[in-house]
Amino acid sequence: MHIEVRNLDKHFGQFHAVKDVSFSIEKGHLIGLLGPSGGGKTSILRMLAGLETPDSGDIVFHGQRVNNLPPQEREIGFVFQNYALFKHMTVFENIAFGLKVKKLKKPAIRERVQELVELTGLSGFENRYPHQLSGGQRQRVAFARALAPEPQLLLLDEPFAAIDAKIRQELRTWLRELIERVGITSIFVTHDQDEAIEVADEIMIINGGRVEQKGTPWDIYKQPSTPFVASFIGESTIIEDVNRLKGFENSSQASRALIRPEYIEIGHAGEFRLLSATEKGTVRHLHFRGSQWMVEVEVGASRLITYRSLEKETLEVGQEVHVLVHRAYLFNEEESWIAENA
Ligand code: ATP
Repeated sequence: MHIEVRNLDKHFGQFHAVKDVSFSIEKGHLIGLLGPSGGGKTSILRMLAGLETPDSGDIVFHGQRVNNLPPQEREIGFVFQNYALFKHMTVFENIAFGLKVKKLKKPAIRERVQELVELTGLSGFENRYPHQLSGGQRQRVAFARALAPEPQLLLLDEPFAAIDAKIRQELRTWLRELIERVGITSIFVTHDQDEAIEVADEIMIINGGRVEQKGTPWDIYKQPSTPFVASFIGESTIIEDVNRLKGFENSSQASRALIRPEYIEIGHAGEFRLLSATEKGTVRHLHFRGSQWMVEVEVGASRLITYRSLEKETLEVGQEVHVLVHRAYLFNEEESWIAENA
């Protein structure tokens, strides 16, 4: 189902939770709503679901304005972190629930539940109760239950938040494949950037009730529209006095620069062909991160972060190094993107 949201606004008392939010979603796409806690992600989802009424704006499904349709008529499936399974029902009965509500006949219900059980990898678990399942299995049942009545839109609010890291990782891949197979338009709320990047076709960064940016994970990473977005997707160092940096002396409109770790090279004097282009810095911290070391280098008033494998050569805290900045994202005083300086 194609989704169109126009100028959505919502107050809770005096508090302005959602501010003039507009976006559209292509049929079959999976969109990640990403942002800090309290930004308005859940409120947007609840308005789409019909659980909350917008102050103003339009919600259009498939060309039809649905603002006045009650939730059960919107053809939506939900999987919420706390939207628990029915404890006294088996896996089969949980998945069948929405089909019974739709008054399907018993054989049709059995057939559809069987399909969903296979689709979600739950064969053999049909007669178990929720307390006899792991957290990951329970969430898979929740997906099967949500998908059973063939909704046109799937709303997911932090569905994996309560699940431990390793299983959560597996479930992300599982979800991606599930959504592709079913081909259902889906919206996924998370505050975990890795989850959003891995799972979503497109990400919307929500902050302070507004959409700060919408785009593919790669587009947002490559060209963040504000410093906030840049710091939310991927790692970066913020430089306030960018004009002081070698190679950036002519960036007079820029008040701020953001530099990704991969745009920074550090080494000894002999390792650079054009030594005049490098800054002098001091290694301040070395953190082991598994496959690489994170190196924090002080250059002027800034601390730059980069990564380096230290198999052969070693760096030491306190050591003087040369630093070459290949590229930076430049923002003006209004925090708007102005250029990529390479
Ligand atoms: P989180 O990740 O913590 O769920 P979120 O981005 O989903 O955050 P929302 O849950 O949409 O944010 O909340 C946005 C703001 O609106 C918050 O400051 C919240 O306290 C407020 N809010 C949400 N629902 C209500 C309500 N029913 N009554 C009053 N304030 C509310």
